[in-house]
Amino acid sequence: MAAPRPVPSFDPAHQPLAGLAGVGARTADKLAARGLLTLQDLWLQLPRQYEDRTRIAPIRGLQAGQPVQVEGVVEAVERGFRYRPMLRVALGDDSRATLVLRFFHFRPAQVAQFRVGARVRCYGTPRPGQHGLEIVHPSYRILGDDERPGLGDSLDPVYPQVEGVGAATMRRLIGQALERLPGHDVLELLPSAAADAHGLPTLREALLTVHRPPPRADLGALLAGTHPAQRRLALEELLAHHLSLRRQRIALQRHGARPFDVPGQLADRLREALPFALTAAQQRVYDQVGRDLRQPVPMLRLVQGDVGSGKTVVAALAALLAVEAGTQAALMAPTELLAEQHLASFRAWLEPLGVRVGWLAGKVGGKARTRALADIAAGEVQVVVGTHALMQEGVEFRGLGLVIVDEQHRFGVHQRLALRDKGASGGRVPHQLVMTATPIPRTLAMTAYADLDVSAIDQLPPGRTPVQTVVLSAERRPELIERIRAACAEGRQAYWVCTLIEEDAAKPSSAAAGSGARADVVAQAAQGTFEALGAALPELRVGLVHGRMKPADKQQAMRRFKGGETDLLVATTVIEVGVDVPNASLMIIENAERLGLSQLHQLRGRVGRGSAASSCVLLYQPPLSQMARQRLATMRATGDGFVIAEKDLELRGPGELLGTRQTGLAAFRLADLARDADLLPAVHAIGEQLLRESPQIADRLIERWIGGAARYAAA
Ligand code: ADP
Ligand code: MG
Repeated sequence: MAAPRPVPSFDPAHQPLAGLAGVGARTADKLAARGLLTLQDLWLQLPRQYEDRTRIAPIRGLQAGQPVQVEGVVEAVERGFRYRPMLRVALGDDSRATLVLRFFHFRPAQVAQFRVGARVRCYGTPRPGQHGLEIVHPSYRILGDDERPGLGDSLDPVYPQVEGVGAATMRRLIGQALERLPGHDVLELLPSAAADAHGLPTLREALLTVHRPPPRADLGALLAGTHPAQRRLALEELLAHHLSLRRQRIALQRHGARPFDVPGQLADRLREALPFALTAAQQRVYDQVGRDLRQPVPMLRLVQGDVGSGKTVVAALAALLAVEAGTQAALMAPTELLAEQHLASFRAWLEPLGVRVGWLAGKVGGKARTRALADIAAGEVQVVVGTHALMQEGVEFRGLGLVIVDEQHRFGVHQRLALRDKGASGGRVPHQLVMTATPIPRTLAMTAYADLDVSAIDQLPPGRTPVQTVVLSAERRPELIERIRAACAEGRQAYWVCTLIEEDAAKPSSAAAGSGARADVVAQAAQGTFEALGAALPELRVGLVHGRMKPADKQQAMRRFKGGETDLLVATTVIEVGVDVPNASLMIIENAERLGLSQLHQLRGRVGRGSAASSCVLLYQPPLSQMARQRLATMRATGDGFVIAEKDLELRGPGELLGTRQTGLAAFRLADLARDADLLPAVHAIGEQLLRESPQIADRLIERWIGGAARYAAA
């Protein structure tokens, strides 16, 4: 954390809100509870959306889900009790149609207002009701006999709700704060070329526009969040977040790290022993990692590489540098299955070199655990492979120099840091290597991972033939039996992946119990498919893995498949991450329309790992949604994880793509990484310029956009 900057008291940005008319101690507390402490916080309290009261819509022709302003005459009022008190008001207008206003909470005085014949102007979102469209709890106003209030000439901003402060008060306070908005010279922090280059307004103009859209503003753009004023704010907000991550990185690098200043003989010996040569991409990334590890500052590098691109061997080479430098390396994987596979590779590769590899997972208990912990603490093992168990209390390393985290998207940032902290001593922290098979688009990576260096293994080992992908309706399931039979007759193996099934869709999935039930349902489906396929293909040896099996049974089933003892493996998505069976050449995925692009891509990556031509069949339940259709078409069109990531970003947006857990990015006030993605190169360029030329401006930007939120989080 940077030292607190003395705040000049004349800076209007930092004036406390108590100075505003109508803000007493109680209101000030309520505002403070939401991180709103200063005028600046109010300037940046941006509208979530807008209400369009510039026109009155005829009731005939209203559409469900489209917010509108309506004016009409009360035709009937009905007060009733069905389960709870209810008031229904039928409103008619010149279009000779009726709209129902429905209230569940109301006072007697309100009921009295709605006399038949009274004229009402209201605003809300119509939904289908029992008798045509209705608006539940509209905002409304009863008009006097001759009262003809003018229409608004601009959009009304709708602000995020602050508990205990009404919407009208909020609007008024923000209005007052805006009266004190300083001039451009004081307010502006961006280099003038920055916004100009994109044809964007100044911050002052942008703030005034989004809070008080002028009559001629492009309403459509404002509602869509693409107005230049909104883009100007998004640019600055993204910049502030980018700078904050870069600052965190700079702070990390104030720590020292042990430089692995070694010739790399162990790594060279491994390379000679491998049955293959590194691809150019593996070589390049290994060089980058090697350079980082020889520095006295901690490496923080993300290696992105498609499934099968060969990240593991790069990790092993890095671990050998750590060992040669006399430190320990730890490799953490998100599932036991994956960790075991890494253990097998590491043992096969490292033990012939005299390097001792330890193992720690949740299921290691009793004496075995005590011994494992003792070996780690005494430095008896130089490399430790494991799961989350590595981060638990009681695990003490003896000089942890390198932390490797596989499939980073499965872990939160905090988990990664927890492991890092295990190695912290004497002002030094371990180097960190993070690996992911879920590539994210470059522009996004630059912003979302501004605290990491990013490398890409963007090439597959030679001899792999691309996986041929077919999309089939589930009705054609029977044809697949023959396909499996043919593949296995050639000595190949096949996967059949069962995912969510239809009945399960109705079940709640949010509660823990719900997801447990879901796993049961999927397990049952897998069991059923296992039995059906076994009956249809009596000559084949069929295996089964699902999440409800005991870990030992799961491992056993995987091992048998890997060892060629089973021909066909029926599985749930537990096989998703990292499992390597090069002889498998056919993958069938049921209900593929239910899965996201990156998950499909991961699953498909289980085949095409050997030299045989492989195929992947995506079975879907018609009818397909537009989105699902596009996803499946993308899967058919490309096998490139980076292209798929770009498409995933476009279709789903970055929140889902990144998972809020794994990015350091907090929630944005206004920016949207997908919508505003084209601004990211500028964000990056301006950010680097500021850090170089005027770091104090960078600090002020961070304080402006994130400072309040950080105070809130700390409170
Ligand atoms: P991932 O990047 O998905 O973790 P792995 O590290 O599991 O990929 O590698 C996939 C397979 O490719 C493994 O069997 C591995 O031994 C093999 N492999 C890795 N690098 C090469 C290479 N340069 N040439 C040939 N095979 C390789
Ligand atoms: Mg892997």
